[in-house]
Amino acid sequence: MAMNVGKRLAAGANTPPASENVLTNTQSAIQAALSRLGYPDTVYELLKEPMRVLTVRIPVRMDDGRTEVFTGFRAQHNDSVGPTKGGIRFHPQVSLDEVKALSIWMSIKCGIFGLPYGGAKGGIICDPRTMSVGEQERLARGYVRAVSQIVGPTKDIPAPDVYTNPQIMAWMYDEYSRIREYDSPGFITGKPLVLGGSQGREKATALGVCIAMREAAQTLEKPLQDLTVIVQGFGNVGSNVAAILHDMGVRVVGISDANGALYDPSGLNIPDLLDKRDSFGMVTTHFSHVMSNDELLVQPCDVLVPAALENQITEHNAAEVQASIVVEAANGPTTPAADEILNERGVLVVPDVLANAGGVTVSYFEWVQNSQGWYWTEAEVNQRLEQMMVQSVQNILKTARRYQVSTRLAAYMVGIKPFAEAMRWRGWV
Ligand code: GLU
Repeated sequence: MAMNVGKRLAAGANTPPASENVLTNTQSAIQAALSRLGYPDTVYELLKEPMRVLTVRIPVRMDDGRTEVFTGFRAQHNDSVGPTKGGIRFHPQVSLDEVKALSIWMSIKCGIFGLPYGGAKGGIICDPRTMSVGEQERLARGYVRAVSQIVGPTKDIPAPDVYTNPQIMAWMYDEYSRIREYDSPGFITGKPLVLGGSQGREKATALGVCIAMREAAQTLEKPLQDLTVIVQGFGNVGSNVAAILHDMGVRVVGISDANGALYDPSGLNIPDLLDKRDSFGMVTTHFSHVMSNDELLVQPCDVLVPAALENQITEHNAAEVQASIVVEAANGPTTPAADEILNERGVLVVPDVLANAGGVTVSYFEWVQNSQGWYWTEAEVNQRLEQMMVQSVQNILKTARRYQVSTRLAAYMVGIKPFAEAMRWRGWV
């Protein structure tokens, strides 16, 4: 993953090759889903792009006294079902097309899980790994000031995403409450517990991924204890997936970070690796022999969990992937061409919009708790998440069988339908 970022930055552009353009790829998926469901073209016209996109320029006073100007985005895909919802990422590779695609994916996730939201996404082009805590805080607050007109607890509710965390959510929440002059916990989710965060939110995406994996693994007819899993990426999602799998008794044989990968067919010592990682998920720096991320993806295992960035499984490596199941913890890790190759080879793909929607589902629980002022235990949160995850996985597998389509197309069909229907009821199409 880091190599991709490096290569692209060195090339001086945030523009990926055409086959990896996540927006056009997403549009094709939506078009296929809507046409399979029999909706007219006008529905696609309205859903192929976000309804609202804001680009902002944020001046930030850096520690050395200079002012640096950052570019940020907020895309709101569709608000026919309810307010929009989705994370904010801080990453050097952020681009407008990526944020737009991510906002559409959020709609699909909300649609699959029946959440009363449309999708949204935010991003700032920056590298928080090279920024001080103070610089990150000023950037987070500056972003909220820049987008404050279009966000809010009943308009658009942000959350964490790549390289953003409860601390950044807390600063954003504080800034928003100051602007509005009242306390507004429902403005943002993924907050620290003392500021109205939900029990279970931090691990929710990872727990959802593991539940989805467990459900999908039933097709292998192998007990969980005999499964071998590779997890690519060791950030919030990847490291928690590895930790939960370890607790479930599943053998994690490979992990990676932006620096490289570790692979051991007899199983890695996950608790030790968790202890060694830093706040950006770097852990392989402690080892002298590491393989590349690209090599890790094609090592032997039963289940491959890409939990890093987009476009990791491509037409160049899909034929060599040895896993029988791919569970997409990251957003968009598989290109459409790779997806086709995996499908042809009979690899079961649990698509991102299904596998990683545990995060937004518990964000929804957080928002509900904020509006009620009534807080749930971790067991209650996890139990509700478990129920919704199992139901959604079964629903997508059933839809794929019924329509004889890939699991990804089935997920898009289930996820986009509420928007097409809501727009029809409202008289928009
Ligand atoms: N950023 C997460 C995602 O991509 C969570 C979004 C949310 O909680 O609203 O699903």
